[in-house]
Amino acid sequence: MSIPLPPNSTIGIVGGGQLGRRAARAAARRGSRCHARPPAPEAPASQVAAATTLGSYDDPAVLRAFASQVDVITFEFENINAEGLDLLAKLRPVRPSPAALRISQFRLAEKSFLNGIGVPTAPWAAVDSVEALQAAVRRIGMPAVLKTARLGYDGKGQVTISSEDEIPEAFATLNPKPLILEGFIDFTCEISVIVARGSDGQMSAFDTMENAHRDHILNLTYAPARVTAEVAAAAQNIARRVAEGLDLVGLLAVEMFVTSDGRVLANEIAPRPHNSGHWTIDACPASQFEMHIRAVAGLPLPPATRHSDAVMKNLVGPEELALWPQIVATPGLIAHHYGKHEARPGRKMGHVTRLFPLGGLPGPFGIADALGPLGAAVPEGKQD
Ligand code: AMP
Repeated sequence: MSIPLPPNSTIGIVGGGQLGRRAARAAARRGSRCHARPPAPEAPASQVAAATTLGSYDDPAVLRAFASQVDVITFEFENINAEGLDLLAKLRPVRPSPAALRISQFRLAEKSFLNGIGVPTAPWAAVDSVEALQAAVRRIGMPAVLKTARLGYDGKGQVTISSEDEIPEAFATLNPKPLILEGFIDFTCEISVIVARGSDGQMSAFDTMENAHRDHILNLTYAPARVTAEVAAAAQNIARRVAEGLDLVGLLAVEMFVTSDGRVLANEIAPRPHNSGHWTIDACPASQFEMHIRAVAGLPLPPATRHSDAVMKNLVGPEELALWPQIVATPGLIAHHYGKHEARPGRKMGHVTRLFPLGGLPGPFGIADALGPLGAAVPEGKQD
C-alpha cells in the first residue's frame, strides 16, 4: 500500500452496519471506494459501498478473495473473528491491528491492559466458577455488575448483584464463560472521547462528550460534556494514553464514568467509529468517519474542531422510528436513517442531530424543546 493511499484506491471494511455506511461515504469524499464485508445481504454499508463480499467471516477462500480486491482493510464492529482478521493482515495492511481488536473483544484483557498503562477502571475480577464469584463479591463488595467477558453490547450479557443469594443464578444465566465482576460505579455521568491516530503517531481528539443511556442503549449524546475542565482534560488524557498504548492506527472511542468525587474511570474501548460520535457528522468540518478514513489511508489528520455544539438523539426501535415523518418535518432537526428494513425493539434505526451555537448548549428544558417530537426522551436532571 502506498502512503498516503491515493484517490481511486479501495478500502475494505469488515462489517456492514451504519458505521460502515458512514465510513464508505467519507471515503467517497476522498475519491476512494469502499468494499464492504457484511454478515448478510442488504446491509446498511452495502447500500452505499462500491462492492460487497458476502460469506462466512472465517472462510479463508472468501477472505483471500476479499483481500485481493482492496488496498487496505479496516473494520466497523468488534464481533468479528480475530483469526480471520489475522489472515487478512498477512495479505493487506489491517488498521487498527488485530491485536487492538482482540483487547477490545475481551473485557478481561481490556481491563488488564487499561490498568497496565495506568488508566483507572472499576475494581474487577475474572470469574470462572460460583466459588470465584463468591470470593470476588466479598472482595469488591455489592452492588456489583457481572458481565460476560465476550460478546456483550448495549447492556446485553450483564446482571447486577445486590445480595449473596443472587450469586448462583447470576453465574448460571450469563454465557459464555469466563465472566467479569465489576464494582458498581455510582457515576454522576458517563462520558466518552474519540481520538484518531495516524501511523506517524499524530493524534486528533474530539472534545469530551457526555452520554445518557436508556435501557442500557445510548439515548443522547451532548457535545461538549457538561463537566468541569479538569474532568474533560482527564478524559482526553486517558483516550490519548489508550491510543498510544495500543499503538493504534485508526479511530478509537473510550467510554468512561465520572464519579461524584470527580474521578474518571475507563469502562470500555472500541477501536472504531462510535455511536457517541455521530454528532461530528453535522457539527465538525472533519467527522469521526473522515478521521477514521484519513487515519486508515495514511492522510494527515486535521484538528478535531467543531463549528457548533450539538445534541445527538438515537432513534431506537419501532416506537421512535414511527416519529420519522414528524422528525423530517421539523426545522433544525438533522435526521439520519440507516436503511435497515426491520425496526426491532432496541435496534438503532437512525439518529437525529440538533446544532447549537458554540457555547450555547441549553439545559434539559431547552434541549427537549429543540428536539421537537423527540423532546420527551430528554431526562430531567441538570437544570437550565
Ligand atoms: P457496557 O456494556 O460495559 O458498556 O455497559 C453498558 C452500560 O451499563 C454502561 O454504559 C453503564 O450505564 C452501565 N454499567 C456498566 N458497567 C457498570 C459499572 N461497573 N457500574 C455502573 N454501571 C455500569
